[in-house]
Amino acid sequence: MQPMTVVRAIALSVAMGAASVSAQAAAEANSTSPTSAVRMQHIRNATTKISYAGKTFLVDPMLAKKGAYPGFEGTFRSNLRNPLVELPMPVEDVLKGVDAIIVTHTHLDHWDGGEHRLLPKGMPLIVQNESDAKIIRAQGFTDVRVIGESTLFEGVRLTRTGGQHGTDEMYADSRLAGFLGQAMGVVFQAQGSPTVYLVGDTVWRGEVEQNLARFKPDVVILNAGEARLVGYAGAIIMSKDDVLRATRAAPDATIVAVHLDAINHMDLSRKDLQEYVQQNGIEDRVLIPADGETLKF
Ligand SMILES: [Zn+2]
Repeated sequence: MQPMTVVRAIALSVAMGAASVSAQAAAEANSTSPTSAVRMQHIRNATTKISYAGKTFLVDPMLAKKGAYPGFEGTFRSNLRNPLVELPMPVEDVLKGVDAIIVTHTHLDHWDGGEHRLLPKGMPLIVQNESDAKIIRAQGFTDVRVIGESTLFEGVRLTRTGGQHGTDEMYADSRLAGFLGQAMGVVFQAQGSPTVYLVGDTVWRGEVEQNLARFKPDVVILNAGEARLVGYAGAIIMSKDDVLRATRAAPDATIVAVHLDAINHMDLSRKDLQEYVQQNGIEDRVLIPADGETLKF
């Protein structure tokens, strides 16, 4: 299906007024409806709310106030405190309507949930492996589920995808490899819904290309802030060039670039990415949501 950008969604809702609300509600209630829209609200960094086939997933909640934590040691601009910006809304609103939380890995910029009494301890929490489950259970969460290669959550198929959270050179150093650890991505699928591939914290790898070819996602969410370590070439997540690569490897997909402008070690800003996207003529293919912005597909 053709993705609907937020601009078109707003234009439509303005043009159609209240009638569109009831028409949409009727469409959603009609189980024979051929497509079910996906709503993605970008919160901050990698924190994203994805409403998918009637369920709402909160991905990678980092809910701290601006400046709550020191910068990541040994990374670019570690003198800056994290997060660099406030949440765009109160934590209560971030959590509103959430059915399950997905934690792609337990680095602080993806999971600081142990710090927050507002996160319901009994909420289903989906994690990549037993070691992350152990960390999160020790923080008092009681319904922590390790995703299988593929897991059905109340009608939504969630497939775990791999990658590597840094370059081969970095992973050749066992201490650094341990620090960078393992991170997952997730593919969301349901009958009649656009396929969403949340790529997670990884550099561009064969696995990513294979997943794009295998799942043919309509929407690809890329962590594109070019996070850097001091003393190493290359980034530990995607770069602007990887955004361009993704538009080529998935010619029918909309690319959503996140993990920007919120954490100390990002070397790419939204502004720079926007310029790059325009220079490369891919501005129709790439969305760069602001914190709090909602996209519909
Ligand atoms: Zn990250």
